[in-house]
Amino acid sequence: MKGFEYLQKELNEMQEEGTFRTLIPLESAQGSKVTIKGKEVIQLSSNNYLGLTSHPKMKEAAEKANEEYGVGTGSVRTIAGTLKMHEDFEEKLAKFKHTEAALVFQSGFTTNQGVLSSILGKEDVVISDELNHASIIDGIRLTKADRKIYKHVDMESLESALKESGDYRTRLIVTDGVFSMDGNIAPLPEIVELAEKYDALIMVDDAHASGVLGDNGRGTVNHFNLDGRVHIQVGTLSKAIGVLGGYVASTKTLRDYLIHKGRPFLFSTSHPPAVTAANDAAIDVLLEEPELIEKLWDNTKFFKDGLNALGFDTGISETPVTPVMVGDDALTHKFSDELFEEGVFAQGIVFPTVQRGKGRVRTIVTAEHSKEELQEALDAFEKVGKKLGII
Ligand SMILES: *Cc1c(COP(=O)(O)O)cnc(C)c1O
Repeated sequence: MKGFEYLQKELNEMQEEGTFRTLIPLESAQGSKVTIKGKEVIQLSSNNYLGLTSHPKMKEAAEKANEEYGVGTGSVRTIAGTLKMHEDFEEKLAKFKHTEAALVFQSGFTTNQGVLSSILGKEDVVISDELNHASIIDGIRLTKADRKIYKHVDMESLESALKESGDYRTRLIVTDGVFSMDGNIAPLPEIVELAEKYDALIMVDDAHASGVLGDNGRGTVNHFNLDGRVHIQVGTLSKAIGVLGGYVASTKTLRDYLIHKGRPFLFSTSHPPAVTAANDAAIDVLLEEPELIEKLWDNTKFFKDGLNALGFDTGISETPVTPVMVGDDALTHKFSDELFEEGVFAQGIVFPTVQRGKGRVRTIVTAEHSKEELQEALDAFEKVGKKLGII
């Protein structure tokens, strides 16, 4: 069809650069091993940190909800699509997060869009870490607030932004709790101190920390014993929680406000019963099976130590998100492709997801991996890393 020539031209350029990608369909359930192109490979690219995508209790809860309430809700939350189970889950989540209230959005992405776009106006300023997730950046784009970007986890840079922000109604500092491409943890204790000194609000996006850090996976705020000192915690139910959705855990005031003003919440249909029931059961799993999180961290240490001993550069990671730095975009994809040939699925991440020239193969081990699988993966990394001159 005519009309898309300019798009095709750009795609052709990507093809020449070696950065054009197609989607890679799994032919099995998510797990420590998955089937891709008919081949069983070790999965190192999912966000399924605790293996909850196929937890029996969660599957059972989803099936029961499906049976009892059907597959869809037929409306947005604010008209006729709020089931009692939606509100019960939000109460349970708020209690879990040690906050007054919680509200669930369709995804982590829409949570950031909904929160940032609704609570900030032209009298306000948002102060954002330069490596924050795309959904935070897009949320900020939707506000009329002034914006300041501080250097990645650089507290001097944050403080100078705060010093210039005295005249605004609200100063909102926004940061990822765990940075999704580098696996480092935001220095929340310092951020809280600065926020208290300059009377700013803090919003933390715990997408990669929920289910991973803090008591029973309560997140970075709890990890640093900062309960009650961070104004807004957002996160996803789609990573370690294993299902789908985003949440904001904060005050009752913010919850009530978002019900009136959070546009994705208002204008997009609510989660199907099976999704909510599975999310609800996930909180029970986090409370009842803390050994999953222990296993996740044990595997993380084993795999990270193994990569470092082989001479790979894993950057500044402190969490299960472990990048293996490569640099060149095309070489990054080549590394990933060769790993696949050796039975390991670890996706290359390049521009625009990370800066140009900072290509990496990003790995995430899960609680489901056995030591044998991780050793097999390390052997593959060694072989391919040597072949391509990365180590
Ligand atoms: C993955 C991620 C999101 C998006 O969450 P979804 O539920 O997948 O939409 C938001 N913020 C951060 C920091 C993320 O890593």
